[in-house]
Amino acid sequence: MPRAKRICPKRGCPRIVNKRYCTEHEREYEADRGSSTKRGYDHRHNALRKQWDIKVQRGGVNCATCGKPIHPGTEWHLGHTDDRTDYKGPEHAHCNTSDGGKRAHPKLES
Ligand SMILES: [Zn+2]
Ligand SMILES: [Zn+2]
Repeated sequence: MPRAKRICPKRGCPRIVNKRYCTEHEREYEADRGSSTKRGYDHRHNALRKQWDIKVQRGGVNCATCGKPIHPGTEWHLGHTDDRTDYKGPEHAHCNTSDGGKRAHPKLES
């Protein structure tokens, strides 16, 4: 039985393949998938961060981790929930980077 030959589905690519794409375009396809997912994530993150930044610079926003105010002009990060599926809000740069910050205030987690 003759083997079914397929041509790489990438437009203009003449290579005969026995899988989805030729080696070159398979790699390109995977890279593109990864980067577009990342782009979507970054876009959402940046948009949200910008919204929060307006509020933080206005003053009166409390850190999502320690509950103390984030003073306008200080460095802050957009914190994730522990499972990283969502954002919990702005937090001090040092609260975001140190794990200890979270554990020190367990009552704020509920
Ligand atoms: Zn190809
Ligand atoms: Zn804090």
